[in-house]
Amino acid sequence: MTYALVLNSGSSSIKFQVLDSAAAASDEPLVSGLVEQIGEPNGKLVIKIRGEKYTSEESIPDHSAGLAKAFGIMAEHGVGPKDLDLTAVGHRVVHGGKVFSAPEIINDQVVEMIRDLIPLAPLHNPANVDGIEVAREILPDIPHVAVFDTGFFADLPPAAALYAINGEVAGENGVRRYGFHGTSHEFISQQVPALLGKDPSAVNQIVLHLGNGASASAVKGGHAIDTSMGMTPLAGLVMGTRCGDIDPGIIFHLYRTAGLSIDEIDTLLNKKSGIKGLSGVNDFRQLREMIENGDTDAWSAYNIYIHQLRRYIGSYMIALGRVDAITFTAGVGENAKFVREDALAGLEMYGIQIDKDRNDLPNDGPREISTDESAVKVFVVPTNEELAIAQKATALATAQV
Ligand code: ADP
Repeated sequence: MTYALVLNSGSSSIKFQVLDSAAAASDEPLVSGLVEQIGEPNGKLVIKIRGEKYTSEESIPDHSAGLAKAFGIMAEHGVGPKDLDLTAVGHRVVHGGKVFSAPEIINDQVVEMIRDLIPLAPLHNPANVDGIEVAREILPDIPHVAVFDTGFFADLPPAAALYAINGEVAGENGVRRYGFHGTSHEFISQQVPALLGKDPSAVNQIVLHLGNGASASAVKGGHAIDTSMGMTPLAGLVMGTRCGDIDPGIIFHLYRTAGLSIDEIDTLLNKKSGIKGLSGVNDFRQLREMIENGDTDAWSAYNIYIHQLRRYIGSYMIALGRVDAITFTAGVGENAKFVREDALAGLEMYGIQIDKDRNDLPNDGPREISTDESAVKVFVVPTNEELAIAQKATALATAQV
């Protein structure tokens, strides 16, 4: 077993897993945990070791205390970092800007470079840097690797990456499309050629990562040529609480006419919009129930979501010219068969035909849901970003020694 620790540090939380980097996507990790409400009086740590759950509620002053506490509980059960002889610690880093297109072994200089990217991701990169610093202090002898959410999209063609706004202003301020969820889009798109029995260089595909956050990508021969998230993760598809693409003029209108402050608009569009802002809930199981009970707001929210998703599918079909596969992944994509059916309904003339029985099967590993006649193959492939990070971190760490 080659165990890696994967850390995803937020401003007041740390999600972590210890997993075998040779595991299958559907395998339970050896350890998974969440430290929450760091810095608040009532901190919480939930940790699952070999399927058994342990909970502790006490004040956790900072990230360092949170990790130390988690490692303590793991050690009590014989799965502390020292017991496991970890090969690597993989850190999820949200923004790699234009500088990081691949995972990077972390040293002081890399930490500084990630810190320099804070203006591009003020909500995420500071916590990622904190998590890295704390983990390097506690585990100084293990290679630490940064894996960037933007990495897979760092080489988007300029026509897809650049916005049609003043070039000088955009250039000076790093305004361009970076894309996010890259680890998942890469993980999924790398599995599809084998499902098709084709060489990766010959495959044109669309990946639909539909979770609470959602994004689409167009991938040609293993390289992303377009993606729906933009300079920030607010753009593109309608999401659980985020609005996705809107007319930028709406922001001026809300500021000037409705009198909302910039921070209020930021919160409105990121946290109180999307499916939740339209229907009151952001979970598709609840949304479905509401629709079945005749709730018109839920129905309208769902239609807006599907309409936007179909817009992106259509535009990526044109961008790719020929499409071999469309793949659904993440919480909604893997589980909500009605979303898959509605997203691709009536597209037979474009060679897309869903097989209803195959689509109705429960989520259980990678599978095809199109008919045998469908020219474009449609798949459901479960994502596992932690496993993808563990694999990348392990590959880089073992290549180093
Ligand atoms: P994220 O990682 O962005 O938080 P996930 O990929 O875990 O999100 O997706 C979470 C979402 O998946 C939930 O909010 C819910 O809408 C949807 N979901 C999960 N399970 C189901 C299910 N069985 N049926 C329909 N939707 C589901």
